[in-house]
Amino acid sequence: MPRALITGVAGFIGSHLAERLLDEGVSVVGMDNLLTGDIVNIERLAGRDFVFIRHDVTNYIHLEGPLDFILHFASPASPIDYLRVPIQTLKVGSLGTHNTLGLAKAKGARYLLASTSEVYGDPLVHPQREDYWGNVNPVGPRGVYDEAKRFAEAMTMAYNRVHGVSTRIARIFNTFGPRMRVDDGRAIPAFFGQALRGDDVTVFGDGGQTRSLCYVSDTVDGLLRLMRSDIDTPVNIGNAEELSIRALAEKIISATGSRSRIVLRPLPVDDPKVRQPDISLAREALGWEPRITLDEGLKRTFDFFRKKLSL
Ligand code: UDP
Repeated sequence: MPRALITGVAGFIGSHLAERLLDEGVSVVGMDNLLTGDIVNIERLAGRDFVFIRHDVTNYIHLEGPLDFILHFASPASPIDYLRVPIQTLKVGSLGTHNTLGLAKAKGARYLLASTSEVYGDPLVHPQREDYWGNVNPVGPRGVYDEAKRFAEAMTMAYNRVHGVSTRIARIFNTFGPRMRVDDGRAIPAFFGQALRGDDVTVFGDGGQTRSLCYVSDTVDGLLRLMRSDIDTPVNIGNAEELSIRALAEKIISATGSRSRIVLRPLPVDDPKVRQPDISLAREALGWEPRITLDEGLKRTFDFFRKKLSL
């Protein structure tokens, strides 16, 4: 039976990945220091072929036994988190990537890096293709995340080239669904929380900035297809349907039947004006594309937040 290590297993995407791998008969070791992850996300895995180790992967990792896959998903991933814990964000992307790559080399395991659309920064090319190098401000507040992930990609390619480690790099675009933290500050949890409480819905800037939102089961499907493919260059994983943040706020207000009103708040520094993945590579090479529509995904996410907020 194959055995996988998932770092950041108690996080949003990490916990969904763990569940899917277990369903497929993979034995899973999950690691997390619970800085931004929540143990509640993995409670349902008790009794399955799953072991949880509380560990900060920026420190040396010791793990007994064979390992076939390492999926490095540990990192704060929302703008307010990396503003709150900037040094930890830099460390997990750099030292944590180095340690997990070292472990992959020692075990002969295949390595999947969770990279991000943030490597494109505030993009000057639209939509973003994998061969675009990005427009990142290294010293701005988001730089701690963007540059850590850019370093992580460089380190991953170096281990591939120098040590022959079998590596995969997923550039994950905005993903949403159940198990997002209500208070993680990102648009979807923020809007659901505000709409369900009847509070004002805070749209930053004029709301004209765009994002393209992928439902988590589609993201996980793309990630696992990439892991099992033979592509070692970066691959965009995301939904190509783009919409403005104002349109997203309106959709969530109407989906929840809320009477909340939209209020405009200042745009955070370096907030990307547009974001949309070109997913031609994933389509052609992985035979993958998202299947869950935004409306269907929002419906499922609404159910989660309604229960979470006990409304
Ligand atoms: N946003 C907003 N109101 C909020 C939270 C976020 O208007 O309460 C905006 C944010 O400025 C950005 C977009 O929604 O333009 C997506 O933000 P998010 O934090 O979800 O992720 P990002 O794509 O910026 O990493």
